[in-house]
Amino acid sequence: MTDVRDLLLPHIRQLNTYDSIDPMEVMAQQAGILPEEVIRLNGNENPFGPSPQVVKALGSFQHYNHYPDPDQRQLRAALSGYLGAPPEQIVAGNGSDELIDMLLRMFLGPGENIVIPTPTFGMYAFSAEVCGGEVRAVPRNSNFDIDVEATVCAVDSGTKAIFLASPNNPTGNVATEAEILALLETGAVVVVDETYYEFCGQTTLPLVAEHPNLVVLRTFSKWAGLAGLRIGLGVMHPDVARTMMSMKSPYNVNRAAEVALLASLEDRATLLERVQAIVAERKRMMALLEQIPGIAVWPSQANFILCRLPEGRGQEIFEGLCRRGIFLRNYNTPQLKDYVRASVGLPEETDAVIAALSELVGG
Ligand SMILES: *Cc1c(COP(=O)(O)O)cnc(C)c1O
Repeated sequence: MTDVRDLLLPHIRQLNTYDSIDPMEVMAQQAGILPEEVIRLNGNENPFGPSPQVVKALGSFQHYNHYPDPDQRQLRAALSGYLGAPPEQIVAGNGSDELIDMLLRMFLGPGENIVIPTPTFGMYAFSAEVCGGEVRAVPRNSNFDIDVEATVCAVDSGTKAIFLASPNNPTGNVATEAEILALLETGAVVVVDETYYEFCGQTTLPLVAEHPNLVVLRTFSKWAGLAGLRIGLGVMHPDVARTMMSMKSPYNVNRAAEVALLASLEDRATLLERVQAIVAERKRMMALLEQIPGIAVWPSQANFILCRLPEGRGQEIFEGLCRRGIFLRNYNTPQLKDYVRASVGLPEETDAVIAALSELVGG
């Protein structure tokens, strides 16, 4: 009998799994509490949920038995209005995760590489490894700003793309236009992941018109509260967009996601008010975290805050929080040893985090 695993591609056999977040029930079971008691601040999700208009539109929609439009006509037209970019530059995906995956499948082959300033979002490395590509991590500086010189130096003839998030996950800081222009100069595809754009208002989108190697990613997961429905988008040169449209799986965005996106855009005033409430809560949470002795806090332009716990105590404090039903994000990389990232949730969730952290750090 052959072992079916012998048929696997070597790079797939060796793949590191992406460290994703557990369902509420699993978290609750871990802490020995009810799912509704869990304080879930490890996924940068929206504590307000989707727009009430989304819930209504999903309930009354009549055509779930029909396949979605593979050309995404209505979606791209609506997104064009929101983004101020022409529809032929836009592709919608099953979350921006799918766009990351498609970009890599379009550009990256075995033996080629991508360059990523780290620490950053894990999907870039994960999806590159799925393609059999090499990942060149270039450490950010002590403020977590991009080391442009070192990043440019890491680019060689095998480099297909540079991926960066702005604001960056998990550090919360933005890349400057000068930094992005310097990276575009390398000629590699530069992917600027603006997942947290709505929380900061700074965008690279206007540069897409003049830079065919620039791709900007956005998502409805965070600001619009649609993480569970999976809808993201990319803005790119029309030739790249056309290629992506032709190689994607035809019905990649499901009809529920489509309905939810259209209703979200119609109700964007409500959603953007909630974004402002999250931004205000971020400021309050930041100030409270800074008052806890022994914790270092990084200013954030997104819906989360990165903290460094007292040296050598990260794991113990993280576990103490889990036992209290408070789930933050921790990291198993040397670069982020003793760090945790807290999503900005509701005021009562902030208060619970602050109380638990003060107690755990002090005691
Ligand atoms: C959350 C996150 C994503 C994932 O977005 P989806 O649209 O839900 O796939 C992408 N990039 C960054 C930087 C993120 O933090």
